[in-house]
Amino acid sequence: MKLHFLGTGGGRYVTGTQRRKTGGILVKTDETQVHVDPGPGALVHCHEMDEPEETEAVIVSHGHLDHVNDANALIEMITEVNEKEGAVFANESVLRGYGDIEKCITDYHQNQIGRVETLEEGSEHEFKDLAIRSQQMFHGDPKTQGFILETEEKSVGFWTDTEYSEELTAFYQDCDIVVVYCGRPRNESVPSHTSLDEIPDIVEDLDINTVIVTHFGYKFLDTDLDEQKEWLDEEIGAKVVFAEDGMEFPGDAKLSRFAS
Ligand SMILES: [Zn+2]
Repeated sequence: MKLHFLGTGGGRYVTGTQRRKTGGILVKTDETQVHVDPGPGALVHCHEMDEPEETEAVIVSHGHLDHVNDANALIEMITEVNEKEGAVFANESVLRGYGDIEKCITDYHQNQIGRVETLEEGSEHEFKDLAIRSQQMFHGDPKTQGFILETEEKSVGFWTDTEYSEELTAFYQDCDIVVVYCGRPRNESVPSHTSLDEIPDIVEDLDINTVIVTHFGYKFLDTDLDEQKEWLDEEIGAKVVFAEDGMEFPGDAKLSRFAS
């Protein structure tokens, strides 16, 4: 399994300024390619940086703009342009609306794509060689889902937008890699988001080998990222990667990492 970060920004301010891109993450397996949390720019950046004709499914954790904005456009690309059956895996709010979160993927697009499945607490799904498991997180969209994408070879957890809670961590215990949507730097925690100083608690009891930090909010980007990373490196045993726009994992470390 390979991850291609089309965007590593999160939150309203970074989305509006595009200080980091917000195109989500392409997940590639031997048999398929799925697009996780396609925020604004997902359609454009998958054309500029990757092979959009390989995409067959869209996975959406919750109904906030920086995760779902381009989902309808990707569905049209998958079905109409590339003539694939396709599938959507998304939480209840995205598919049907919940509370004050309006339905984000239209009925028209849900009818267009081959399969529509709801990610919810304890749900399990399969798509090609990919198994998907879901759990409920604690976030502004009350139905927000965290998930694990698994092939025979690798298991990648997505700790999506959520407030830290001890009860969420055990779900990720069999993962090799955890991608943490970490909007905030150290000492800047806010309700319903994860900050960097909570990552040691997330991975404390997990036997994972790599933590990938992404979904940077503007307060995080205003800090010295090298310093933040060094701190986390010292706190945890797993390898720490701060995602960058365009980064593929595993694979090509970006040239900018070696500059200056
Ligand atoms: Zn959110």
